[in-house]
Amino acid sequence: MQSHGASALAPSGKACASATSPAAMAEKEAAVLAGRRVALFPLPFQGHLSPMLQLAALLRARGLAVAVLHTDFNAPDPARHHPDLAFVPIRETLPEEATSPDADIVAQLLALNAACEAPFRDALASLLPDVACAVVDGQWYAALGAAAQLGVPVLALRTDSAATFRSMLAYPRLRDAGYIPIDEQRLDEPVPELEPLRVRDLIRVDGCQPDALCGFIARVADAMCASASGVVVNTFAAIEASELDKIQAELSQPAFAVGPLHKLTPAAAAAEHDFRYQLYGPDCVAWLDAHPPRSVLYVSLGSVACIDRGVFDEMAWGLSISGVPFLWVVRPGSVRGGMPALPYGLDWSMGKIVPWAPQRDVLAHRATGGFWTHCGWNSTLESVCEGVPMLAQPCFGDQTVNARYVTQQWGVGLELGEVFDRSRAAEAVRRLMVGEECAAMRERAHGLKTRANQRVAAATRAIDNLVDYICSLSTAPC
Ligand code: UDP
Repeated sequence: MQSHGASALAPSGKACASATSPAAMAEKEAAVLAGRRVALFPLPFQGHLSPMLQLAALLRARGLAVAVLHTDFNAPDPARHHPDLAFVPIRETLPEEATSPDADIVAQLLALNAACEAPFRDALASLLPDVACAVVDGQWYAALGAAAQLGVPVLALRTDSAATFRSMLAYPRLRDAGYIPIDEQRLDEPVPELEPLRVRDLIRVDGCQPDALCGFIARVADAMCASASGVVVNTFAAIEASELDKIQAELSQPAFAVGPLHKLTPAAAAAEHDFRYQLYGPDCVAWLDAHPPRSVLYVSLGSVACIDRGVFDEMAWGLSISGVPFLWVVRPGSVRGGMPALPYGLDWSMGKIVPWAPQRDVLAHRATGGFWTHCGWNSTLESVCEGVPMLAQPCFGDQTVNARYVTQQWGVGLELGEVFDRSRAAEAVRRLMVGEECAAMRERAHGLKTRANQRVAAATRAIDNLVDYICSLSTAPC
C-alpha cells in the first residue's frame, strides 16, 4: 500500500524517473516525449470538461504536447485555450438518447459510450505512433478499453471525489450484501466500509432503473481494473486522505491525487468562461461589491440538474422569507416545463437572479457568506477552497456522497433534506448565514480553506509525479 501524503503517489514496482537527478530526469523526459503527445478525452459536460482542460493546461506547462480529443456535442472552443493545445474532433454520430435533456444521465452515459467508442478509437489511431499516453474521463469506460486495445497506455481521470470513486469500486460487494438496489427501509443505516455514508447517500439517479445504474457502474469499475494504467483524482489528502488510501489499497495501479485542479490553473479556468463572463460577470461582481462582508447567499444547482416547478417555487419563497440577500443562478432549462415566472407576491428587493454567474469569483468574493448548492464535486471543491459553508441540496448521482462529506465529515454545511417547504428552506438559510452554528461552520470552513491552500503550494509535486509516470509508461526507448 502506498502513502498518499501531500502529493501524488509514485507507482509501485515501476521505474519512476523521479529516482534520478532533476536535470537527468528533464533530459530523459524530453527524449521520451519529443514529438510525442498525451491525448486527453473529456466527457462533454461542464463539470467534466473543466477539470480535464485544467489538467491539459498543467501538462502543457510541463512541456508535454497535448491533444484534446473531443466530441462535437458540447465541443470546447479552442480559441479560449492556449494555442499549443491541439483540439481533435472525433466526429461522432449520436443517437437522440445521448443528448436529449429528457433522458436520464445514466441512459445518456451508456449511449455516449456506445456511440463514441469507434470514433474515439479511430481518432486516437490517427495520432499514432505519436502518443505516449492517453488520459480519458473515468466515465468513458468504452474509451478506456479502446485505448488499451490500440496498445496505448491509458489513465482514468476521476472528476468526482475519492469517496465517490471508492463507492463505485465497492458496488459489487454492496450488491452482494443487499444494500444495492437501495432499500427504502434501510435509508439511515450506515454502509459498512464506506463510512460516513448511509444507504441514502449512495449514488442514485431518480427515474433510472437500478439495474441500469449498477450495470453502468460495473462497466466503469471493470474498465478501470482491466484497461487503465492508473487513476488521476481531482482531490487532495487534506480532505480525503483515508478515501485515497483505501482506493490505493484496492487498486493495483497507482492513484494520483492532483487536486484541487482549479486552484492550480487560474488562467485556463478563467478562459473557459470567457464569453459568459463578459456577459454576466461584471454585473454579478458589481452587485456583490455593494454588499457587506459575508452577507450574501450564493445559490446554484450546477450545469445539469433540473428541478420541478414546485421545488423552484419553495426555493423562491424560502429565499424571500429568510431576509438574507441572495445571488441566484437560474439556468435556462433548469426548471422542468420551461422558465417559470416568479411566484406572485414575493419580495425580491434583497435578491438578484442571473442565468449564469462566474462561480469561482463569486465564492471568492468577500460579500459571499454561504452557498446553497447541489454539491457537484467541482462546486464542492470550489466552495471548500474559498472557505464558504454550504447548504446541501443534492439532486442525483455523486451529489449525495459529496453532501454527506460536506455536512457530516467536514462539518462545513447543513442538509436541506430531500423534501422541504418554504419555511424549512428559510430556516436553513438563516442557520447557515447567521448565529452560533454559522460561526462554528465558518471557522471549520476557514480551516479547510487554509489546508486547501497549503495543499496548492505542494501540488506541483503531484503533477510532477504524474508526468514522471506518463514518461515511464511510454513505449519509446528511454
Ligand atoms: N458554474 C459556473 N457558473 C454557473 C454554474 C456553474 O461557473 O452559473 C461552474 C462551477 O463553477 C463548476 C461547474 O460549473 O465548476 C459545475 O460543476 P459541478 O461539478 O459542481 O456540477 P455539475 O454541473 O457537473 O452538476
